[in-house]
Amino acid sequence: MREYKLLIDGALVDGAAGTMDVVNPATEAPVAACPLADEAQLDAAVAAAKAAFPAWAARPLAERAALIDRLADAMMERRDEFARLLTQEQGKPLDQATGEIMGSVFTLKAFTTMTLDPRVLKDEPGHKVIEYRRPLGVVAAITPWNFPVVLLMNKVGPALLSGNTMVAKPAPTTPLTSLLFAELAKDILPRGVFNILCDRNDLGARLSTHPDVAKIAFTGSTATGKKVMESAAGSVKRITLELGGNDAAIVLDDAEPVETAQKVFQGAMVNAGQVCVAIKRAYVAEPLYDSFCAELARLAKEAIVDDGDKQGTQVGPLQNKAQYEKVKDFLDDAKANGSIIAGGEALDRPGYFIPPTIVRDVAPDARIVQEEQFGPILPVLSYRNVEEVIADVNRSDYGLGGTVWGKDVGRAMDVASRIDSGTVWVNQAMALDPSIPFRGAKQSGFGGELGEEGLHEYTQPHIVNAITA
Ligand code: NAD
Repeated sequence: MREYKLLIDGALVDGAAGTMDVVNPATEAPVAACPLADEAQLDAAVAAAKAAFPAWAARPLAERAALIDRLADAMMERRDEFARLLTQEQGKPLDQATGEIMGSVFTLKAFTTMTLDPRVLKDEPGHKVIEYRRPLGVVAAITPWNFPVVLLMNKVGPALLSGNTMVAKPAPTTPLTSLLFAELAKDILPRGVFNILCDRNDLGARLSTHPDVAKIAFTGSTATGKKVMESAAGSVKRITLELGGNDAAIVLDDAEPVETAQKVFQGAMVNAGQVCVAIKRAYVAEPLYDSFCAELARLAKEAIVDDGDKQGTQVGPLQNKAQYEKVKDFLDDAKANGSIIAGGEALDRPGYFIPPTIVRDVAPDARIVQEEQFGPILPVLSYRNVEEVIADVNRSDYGLGGTVWGKDVGRAMDVASRIDSGTVWVNQAMALDPSIPFRGAKQSGFGGELGEEGLHEYTQPHIVNAITA
């Protein structure tokens, strides 16, 4: 098996706390051993990032951009190796894994085109005010297991471009692609600018309370996000929280049912439903309901569920055993509170496989409707009055994304504008773009990722306000 190392202060090193097997969720066989950091290594990584900060921050932005561009090119050159490893540790089908790697390269490159030029806020006779953007210091990047590469790159691009240094901590079940990225970083970036630690879910709290960490860029569950917020209070750290969601698809009565069902199915089942902005519940206008459900069921029954390494696989396994057990609980809830028209049973084979499952005639207050299932189960509800649907959707504590579908685009956009979420897509799903800011509302988090606003999140505005005469 190939060896993986931590990156601390420019050196690839073993973990002082031993190793842990990373398991392929399609086979339950080990992929490789992950090195585990101890607390002293965490402190060393933060100290290295702190020491590297002044020189990195002092470099011209164009030089930092050039090095990020080299990182993107290096990842592109090894995209097949990254994608295969991603499928092995995460479970997603190889074409989706390749898409994640290409998206990562694209995201890094998009940030290299951004600038942080000073803004002149006032320029009057005798008075000039300029806003500069300064880096914050050491950024801790904490990532989850569903998109381990692109969610890290969403942070690496803006954090490094704006002159911060980093300590990254991937999720314990998907650390290997981040460690592969660290090998590129070791050869391209100055010592200490990018460091990476792995853990058994036991170092996140220490990293996010560390007094020398200036900002925490966190993507993960709302429950852990709340802990991060508490941890940040000690030294008033800056935080970005990209948390959970329970995104609704609202299908209006003028939508084309078959074509829309196909797009909604894709938006619900990609990455086996383990996407923060996946469609997690669908509200369908009553006249379309039966044909819409029938098409979803057809697609679910036809979907090829298998090891993501096998060509043609459309839906891979759940990423880890804990999530698999959680989604099986949701299956029980779906059976008790609705009518399952496709899927419904975990597959009897090694690996954490649950086939695409469609639940119709489901009680609106069932857990499968009200909570984030983060798996390949789609509850479908029928409605008569769209005003009631908007009110239902907005009752959620979450507010990450959502979709609205209909031929009258003006009406669909009007409905979209009334959903209390950070992003609502119309006649498309999950269209994330590095040039467009992405952020959650309510308990889906705050602080933007991506776009120029995402870049600004890694900076401190610094105002110089001068009497000039
Ligand atoms: P998680 O919250 O369990 O873990 C996320 C990361 O936090 C991991 O690296 C984990 O080790 C670390 N962590 C654990 N305890 C910590 C602590 N006390 N302090 C700091 N860090 C700690 O999330 P997960 O189960 O890996 O991911 C799934 C969740 O992530 C879902 O809810 C999903 O919706 C959400 N998510 C959100 C987005 C988004 O952009 N909004 C994107 C992807 C996933």
